[in-house]
Amino acid sequence: MAEIILKRGEENDVFAGHLWIYDNEIDRVEGDFEPGGIVDIKSSKGAFLGRGYINPLSKIRVRIITREHEEIDRAFLERRIDDAVALRRRLGLENSYRVIFGEADMLPALIVDKFSDCLVIQTLALGIDRMKSDIVDILRDRFDPRCIYERNDVPLREKEGLKQQTGALYGISPGTVEINEHGIRILVDIENGQKTGYFLDQRENRAAIEPFVRDARVLDCFSHTGGFALHAAKYGAKSVEAVDISEQALKIAAENAVLNGFSTIETKQANVFDLLNDYVRAGNMFDTIILDPPAFCKTKSALSGAYRGYKEINLRAMKLVNPGGFLITCSCSHFMTPELFLKMINEAAVDVRRRVRIIEIRYQAKDHPVAVNADESLYLKCVMLQVL
Ligand code: SAH
Repeated sequence: MAEIILKRGEENDVFAGHLWIYDNEIDRVEGDFEPGGIVDIKSSKGAFLGRGYINPLSKIRVRIITREHEEIDRAFLERRIDDAVALRRRLGLENSYRVIFGEADMLPALIVDKFSDCLVIQTLALGIDRMKSDIVDILRDRFDPRCIYERNDVPLREKEGLKQQTGALYGISPGTVEINEHGIRILVDIENGQKTGYFLDQRENRAAIEPFVRDARVLDCFSHTGGFALHAAKYGAKSVEAVDISEQALKIAAENAVLNGFSTIETKQANVFDLLNDYVRAGNMFDTIILDPPAFCKTKSALSGAYRGYKEINLRAMKLVNPGGFLITCSCSHFMTPELFLKMINEAAVDVRRRVRIIEIRYQAKDHPVAVNADESLYLKCVMLQVL
């Protein structure tokens, strides 16, 4: 097996728990390797640091998959997948959940979501992509699913020299799957929906809106297929307006509303930035507003623009909340750290001259665990505010 010897000092991050070795951290490579194959990582002094898969095309040259001297074979993958599943079972998850969350489950660049009896898989690095057929086999054995569908239509794969591709790896895709979240029936388009079809990371936060929506006039911004809107309706909102820019997402949101007999939900296709402005001008007020935008910044350099974007929508939303009402505001960009996010909320509140208090600070659902030393893996913030 080839050995990757790090430059002096570069082992510190690996000792601290980081799983990625960048190209510029490597002093030399000893021995031959295949792209995507397994290599050993050693410190400049020759200490064994771990084992991972290498991709000479990627800036993230090696992703560490173990810190032990163990064979990376099918039995290894079985142990990793079984550990991941055991956690989710312990959490009491059954119908729909994230089965594998990459680095946090020590399977870098692998995502597996379970939507009822279908699994959706993403392999976002060459090394894990090469293990796909073993992984599919193990998942078949453990879950006996109707179908395992590949959603590798992710541009990030091109940085790994991988093609974007989608399709059933096992079974026949039903196209759309019905899941059950807190007793609500939700349709998930596993073939064409955004990401893997549905945002499971907000599951617990959706349930947590219950105290803030009863008898309320609710505005769900960036509603996608209606996750928050459906929960608001279930928890007794007087009316719910679900806003998204995607017609496809809203079509499913409307179907979901009908499926559950929620006549209080209305969908509206709009750009949230513009719509909030229009509502401010028109004085169209709400009791509770939910903001769950897509990641505004995907790179660190985009952060300052993104910060302004977050502040802009939060500021507008604060203006639209009736005194004593609530703003449930989220960010799924890991560059927007919890500290920065709270700073932004504070600045927005000062600018609109409203007294705002934090009722609760929440993060991603427990089936998206956070690897404590990977900055990227704590990414979702959800803050429940009261606007006085
Ligand atoms: N709240 C959703 C997830 C939101 S994902 C849930 O609980 O499932 C972000 C959504 O924002 C996507 O559906 C995307 O179509 C939408 N979106 C992105 N930019 C937008 C914009 N400027 N205005 C309105 N919607 C937008």
